[in-house]
Amino acid sequence: MTFNEFKFHKDLLKGVKIAGFREPSPIQKMVVPIIKKGEDLVGQAHTGTGKTAAFGLPLMDKIAKKEIERALVITPTRELATQVSDELYHLGRFCGIRTITVYGGVGYGRQIALINKGVQVVVATPGRLKDLYKKGKIDSFNPEIVVLDEADEMLDMGFLEEIKEIFEYIPQNRQTLLFSATMPEPIKELANEILTDPQFVSVVGDDDSTTNNTIEQSYYVIEEAQRDEAIVKLLETEKTNKCIIFCRMKREVDRLTEHLKAMGFNAEGLHGDLEQMDRDRIVKSYRRGESKIMVATDVASRGLDVKNVSHVFNFHIPFDPQSYVHRIGRTGRAGKAGKAITLVSTTEFKELQRIQKEVGADMKLETIHLDGSSNSTIDFISLEADVRAVTIDENAAEFIDSMEDMDYHEFVERVVSLLLQDEKSNSNLLGYDQNTVNMMLNEYQSEQKVARKNNRKKKRR
Ligand code: AMP
Repeated sequence: MTFNEFKFHKDLLKGVKIAGFREPSPIQKMVVPIIKKGEDLVGQAHTGTGKTAAFGLPLMDKIAKKEIERALVITPTRELATQVSDELYHLGRFCGIRTITVYGGVGYGRQIALINKGVQVVVATPGRLKDLYKKGKIDSFNPEIVVLDEADEMLDMGFLEEIKEIFEYIPQNRQTLLFSATMPEPIKELANEILTDPQFVSVVGDDDSTTNNTIEQSYYVIEEAQRDEAIVKLLETEKTNKCIIFCRMKREVDRLTEHLKAMGFNAEGLHGDLEQMDRDRIVKSYRRGESKIMVATDVASRGLDVKNVSHVFNFHIPFDPQSYVHRIGRTGRAGKAGKAITLVSTTEFKELQRIQKEVGADMKLETIHLDGSSNSTIDFISLEADVRAVTIDENAAEFIDSMEDMDYHEFVERVVSLLLQDEKSNSNLLGYDQNTVNMMLNEYQSEQKVARKNNRKKKRR
């Protein structure tokens, strides 16, 4: 199928051609005809599936053909608003569609003036948009199409009430489109409230050809103290283009960014405490490829669409499975291959298993040799010193006696080999291998069993 079959305005098709889109993605094939017909829609899709163009193209087609005058897109974060706005600008620029991005943290004046001057598409975050409506500053802005993008993220970020309030200011006779990667109960309820007889479309799962199935997922089981060393080693050994390292906390973003910079890496940190100007600058320089490593929290990078992100690293496993899906979705975009690598400490096993189970993630356990090869050279000098420093255990003589059938020279060689094996696995291998991980899991499960048994006993008493 080609984009021509959608019979879009010719200037819009020009934008699509220049953007290099050859064929509509699965969600575009499903969603465009519904939007063109004027029906309400619930679309379940992750970012990376082409959903922005899926709603953006028919929406701009209607504006270009003068079927409607105005549209509104609501996104959870400023970064996503800018990104959606950029994509709409690029696709719609030959139709002369005027788009504005509206978010908090910057002055009101220009935003109000532009909206009232008659921009056709407003892409906004909930907080600022609600403020503008509430203060009566944009009474004349009555969008005929409203898109709620990444609704589940808005729910997570606590915007649900603001969204409901915004809809009180928007005319009833509108077309409403709701997109969400997941469909928790409050989102279903919201859909019931704000949509009229919606069509349902989902590209989560097998059809989601532009996201997860192009991403190779692996994990390393490490000790907590090895995290910094592990990430540096991975950055050195993986063939990365642009990459994102996800952290759980802002403080961790700052610390790790400084650490990586000190190690000579071209890294920048992104989190919600930074000034908007700095956030814009950082995302821009990352997009352009001036910085190659973005260290970020989940919130700051929601929906971020940057081309050629080859790797996503989870410095810490995310708190919930959906964050995992969102994080790894930053790579493997538009059908390209990507790698998602997660570092888990031994105490994070349980969370890892939960994510694997809930997301159905196919993650491979990996180990890495710290010097880059398995046949590393042994530090014989320090080994000799270690051997000379050993105090002879009184059981040693007895043990040697028990091996008397073995040639003395062979015996010494075997003992030294044993020592070397230990040396190699301790100092050169980062991450536990499958056998060790299985052993740890068994240990963990038997500990859990004992704990459950003890609990039951306690309760009986
Ligand atoms: P989205 O899911 O909207 O964040 O889009 C993910 C990326 O895919 C963006 O960089 C889009 O420009 C790109 N994209 C969207 N539709 C297509 C298409 N039909 N062919 C190729 N790339 C696309």
